[in-house]
Amino acid sequence: MSLSLDSTVKLNNGVEMPWFGLGVYKVEDGKEVHTSVQSALQNGYRAIDTASFYQNEEGVGQAIKASGVPRDDIFVTTKVWNDEQGYESTLEAFENSRKKLGLDVIDLYLIHWPIKGKFKDTWRAMEKLYNDGKVRAIGVSNFKVHHLEELLADATVKPVINQIELHPRLTQEDVREFCQKNEILVEAWSPLMRGKVFDDPVIESLSKKYNKSPAQIILRWDLQSNIVTIPKSVHEERIKQNADIFDFELSQEDIEQIDALNRDERVGPDPDNMS
Ligand code: NDP
Repeated sequence: MSLSLDSTVKLNNGVEMPWFGLGVYKVEDGKEVHTSVQSALQNGYRAIDTASFYQNEEGVGQAIKASGVPRDDIFVTTKVWNDEQGYESTLEAFENSRKKLGLDVIDLYLIHWPIKGKFKDTWRAMEKLYNDGKVRAIGVSNFKVHHLEELLADATVKPVINQIELHPRLTQEDVREFCQKNEILVEAWSPLMRGKVFDDPVIESLSKKYNKSPAQIILRWDLQSNIVTIPKSVHEERIKQNADIFDFELSQEDIEQIDALNRDERVGPDPDNMS
């Protein structure tokens, strides 16, 4: 698989999405988000992952406009937050996000968490937004296999993606297998486990072997495992470093070594406990 930073993957509805992008969770609206989105775009990133919950959609939108990169070359994801779920409230939340981002059409809109008793109504609203052409693709986040089964039972539009916590300590084999069978792409959030896995001996030894940083080893592992990634950084050097993963290849054996680091350990909440 020979890829570069602007390489895309075809989603199950035919829309092309970059394999790699910038996450902006916990990046402050205003100067901080402006600077990180700007430096990502200047360094060749073409996808940005935000959410209404992050409260920085305005800054993301302004940075995109100021970047000079044509709108159509940038893939923007945002998400409907838990207290916005339900049919009407999702339609309203979408309009708010769209206005804040200053975009006519959002590339990908996700249900942020599978809120019990709500997410199916939310999905109906997402289907309407999609059918009305306001969003190019719709998907979910933090869905376990049982959530996906419940959703797919009545969905008229299949989610294109499931964005889940995924890193060497949480490899999510069951969700990945289900998604693959159902043509739903997997996207990793907290791909770097927020820095908590860099000192693992296997990651450290691979870092020496390939002369790449621990972050680059992990992000390359995602790429070679067909997983979309959106590492977050507010530092230009790291933004550049994280994207510099297209000039080496992990051996199959080394990929399996990383797979074996799984401990089902989360840095975020268990989706079954999110209310
Ligand atoms: P990440 O795993 O991307 O880790 C980010 C942390 O690692 C930051 O503290 C950053 O610091 C640091 N870091 C980044 N690159 C490097 C590097 N090369 N070397 C050393 N440290 C580095 O965590 P996130 O939780 O931010 O996940 C990524 C994105 O996923 C989010 O920003 C968000 O868009 C999305 N997300 C989605 C969720 C969901 O429920 N759908 C939940 C959580 C996240 P610094 O910024 O100081 O460089």
